[in-house]
Amino acid sequence: MNTLHHGYWTFFAVRKKKYVGWFVFGSILPDIVYYVMFIYLSVTRNAFQVVDDPDPMHSLFRLIHDLFEHPVVFVLRQAGHSLFIWGIAIVIILLWKGRRLTPWSALAYGWLGHVVIDLLTHVEDAVPVFYPISSFTIRGPISYWDDDYHAGVFSLVNTTLIILSLIYLFVKKWRKKRAFTKSS
Ligand SMILES: [Zn+2]
Repeated sequence: MNTLHHGYWTFFAVRKKKYVGWFVFGSILPDIVYYVMFIYLSVTRNAFQVVDDPDPMHSLFRLIHDLFEHPVVFVLRQAGHSLFIWGIAIVIILLWKGRRLTPWSALAYGWLGHVVIDLLTHVEDAVPVFYPISSFTIRGPISYWDDDYHAGVFSLVNTTLIILSLIYLFVKKWRKKRAFTKSS
């Protein structure tokens, strides 16, 4: 799933819990490397100087292609989406902080949500589940971006659910506000 949607759905799921910001941060954590390295590659290649570029779209596609081939992105993408690496992290956090909810465990649970959702929404580009100790991959039932694997249906359903959930949140907030102004 794309990074923004990971963040939104995590926010929606945990909005009444403590440490919402840490959950959401964890849910976008595995993808942050793309944005950092995108900016890095853009700067090192002077990609923002589109004026001199005869075909800026082509350059952008090449940049995105090279981004995913870049060794730093390749390793961190696999590590960030690995249940094995996540497992090590949660064991350390539990031993260190105990079982209660802390910013660290909130971050880890947000991260886990990301990994599980990606397991279900990537097919051809699925990452080894237990990287780096095994190359076993699970092909998800749908791909959030690949039209060969129902990306259109996924996008339609996801967008509809986001709109409905936003309406739900706004109506609830509005009702609460009205009840508050009535009572005061
Ligand atoms: Zn991801």
